Amino acid sequence: GPQRASVLNKELGIFSFHDLLYYFPYKYVDRSRIYRIREIDGAMPYIQLKGEILGFETAGEGRQRRLIAHFSDGMGIVDLIWFQGIKYLIGKYKVHQEYIVFGKPTVFNGRINIAHPDIDPASELKLSAMGLQPYYNTTEKMKRSSLNSHAIEKMMKSLVGQLNEPLPETLSPALLAEHHLMPLTDALMNIHFPSGPDVLRKAEYRLKFEELFYVQLNILRYAKDRQRKYRGYVFEKVGDIFNGFYSRNLPFELTNAQKRVLKEIRRDLGAGRQMNRLLQGDVGSGKTLVALMSMLIALDNGYQACMMAPTEILANQHYETIRELLYGMDVRVELLTGSIKGKRREAILSGLLTGDVQILIGTHAVIEDTVNFASLGLVVIDEQHRFGVEQRESLNAKGSTAPHLLVMTATPIPRTAAMTWFGDLDISWLTELPGGRKPIRTFVVPEANGPLMAEMFGLIRKRIDAGERAYVVCPRIDADAKDADDAGGSGDAEVGSAFDATYDLGEDDEQREQRPPLHSVAEIAERLRSLPQFAGIRIATLTGRDDDETKSQIMADFEAGVTPILVATTVIEVGVDVAQASCMVIFDADRYGLSQLHQLRGRVGRGGTESGAFLISRAPEGSDAAKRLDVIAGTLDGAEIAQADLEFRGAGDVLGDAQSGGKSGLKLLRVVKDVKIIEEARAEAAKLVAEDPTLRGYVQLAGAVLDFTRGNETFLTSN
Ligand code: ADP
Ligand code: MG
Repeated sequence: GPQRASVLNKELGIFSFHDLLYYFPYKYVDRSRIYRIREIDGAMPYIQLKGEILGFETAGEGRQRRLIAHFSDGMGIVDLIWFQGIKYLIGKYKVHQEYIVFGKPTVFNGRINIAHPDIDPASELKLSAMGLQPYYNTTEKMKRSSLNSHAIEKMMKSLVGQLNEPLPETLSPALLAEHHLMPLTDALMNIHFPSGPDVLRKAEYRLKFEELFYVQLNILRYAKDRQRKYRGYVFEKVGDIFNGFYSRNLPFELTNAQKRVLKEIRRDLGAGRQMNRLLQGDVGSGKTLVALMSMLIALDNGYQACMMAPTEILANQHYETIRELLYGMDVRVELLTGSIKGKRREAILSGLLTGDVQILIGTHAVIEDTVNFASLGLVVIDEQHRFGVEQRESLNAKGSTAPHLLVMTATPIPRTAAMTWFGDLDISWLTELPGGRKPIRTFVVPEANGPLMAEMFGLIRKRIDAGERAYVVCPRIDADAKDADDAGGSGDAEVGSAFDATYDLGEDDEQREQRPPLHSVAEIAERLRSLPQFAGIRIATLTGRDDDETKSQIMADFEAGVTPILVATTVIEVGVDVAQASCMVIFDADRYGLSQLHQLRGRVGRGGTESGAFLISRAPEGSDAAKRLDVIAGTLDGAEIAQADLEFRGAGDVLGDAQSGGKSGLKLLRVVKDVKIIEEARAEAAKLVAEDPTLRGYVQLAGAVLDFTRGNETFLTSN
């Protein structure tokens, strides 16, 4: 019906049978085993019983009024209980008929109860009841329209039941045979209604392979295209500007890692093909300096360079840093952000066209949209590992020859993930932190532990009295704002971690409802202002809703110590560098991805004072959420954290939309677990692209290819 359709459209982006068919379960419950009543104890998860109803009984008054059915399997008795629909149920279920009952048992007053169980006549058992029952994620709005997991399961069952003939196959017979892959139709039927774990695994394998194959095909095709189209400038020499900087201005010895990476970059720049390099390095590993020195090589060869940052704050900081580093040198550096307007802006734009402006620092949007260069030779993109294929393409379009590209990120991406995102990028690692930095100590603080919280606040006060600063991070802007999404209309949610702000705890709907709301910036700022520990201390707030000018002012006040405590969302996550900041407090820390926590913690400890990160959480002891925090507290190694993050992560949307092809993206993939599939799929894709770059011989798949790359138009259309 139109109403359900509209809910499915809005909530899950499901518009067609195809979309629905590709909406996969997030878990399965084994319904193949029938338990005996005498085996049951209250600690069991969902179980299944077979037997008959001996009789009905009603009890209680008002909201407590309930229907009880005494159910027996011949050996024991349990009580099935309903609080709603009593009349309907009495009419529906018959005594002395055989039923299969499914639900979670609890023990109350020595009796076993199952509240609101599923009941099916034993004679009518269908597909799912025989094997693993699928569970589908749903949203609040969906549940309000009675579209819970069950309802989706029913729809799916009727849809699958209508598949009278096989769907068009999307992989070639050779691939299917060689990798022992299940045919598409079987795989789709079995991903929803598997008859057992082995079949489920096979179905998953087939669908993962297919997804990865097309993603890799896309990336590799693009890479090949690019190699053909863009020859790349040759920067053959290192000249006066670079050498002058090196001998007179460089304030410290380069780390060995910096030297190695610079060598890799120099080799790329001279190779005659466009550089596409991802530079990974922990927070504080000195990426800015590497970027600057690479830009100086471009200048030495008569080209301009630009550096793009995800936020205005960060662009400002880079500008200041680079101006300082280049002090006394004859290099014209300009800053271009949304708040630079009028004559000033015009002067910069015309300076870029004449080539007078040699280095431009700015925000992505600004540079991508409005700027033209005389001879742009190198583009550096900071803290934007999600900089996708399309965006790269838009930069390439700026000149007849494509500028070299250096993408930098502090969010470590394990090799397998990098391969999937950036199949066509080369990767460098800055593996070493410059000396003299004190490691950050990290503490997990249960929010319920009042004395510990008070001690923490007292400690922060001491640090502030000593001239230091504290960040306090919360997942929400205010009580009304959506969970964690600090987009605030400014696109900041895209910034930073590969993994968006809130963490899917893998809870079911009930657990989700019982969880208290996430802390907000507004609420925590209020709370801190009323604490005796912070009497007389000014506390500022910063969120994605503040405009850029306000943001800069707030950061300036924080840096100057006017407001030594800053309560903020993750807008402060990326790149911000305030040397005096020594305390990082993160509320609802268990709701962030590990790499993001690591990033956030890297905001402190930049000035050589001993620094601390406090991860405040309401996660129950021993829960997965609590264990994740222990990982963070236990190591400062970004690569290790990234790996752990991926391992904890479920089968959710691991990859960003842009690279995964939108809706039909990598739903099943677990980057860590699936290394082998990634490698196999990539090898097959590479073989295919090498044999037949236009994919003309693979016509029967073209439809599927297009489908898989919806929202990623560079594929197929570019040829
Ligand atoms: P990130 O990799 O997080 O972007 P930055 O480039 O901001 O790190 O560098 C962090 C700090 O380390 C800066 O203050 C920078 O001046 C300093 N730094 C960079 N390279 C070195 C080095 N070789 N020796 C000492 N300090 C360095
Ligand atoms: Mg940086």
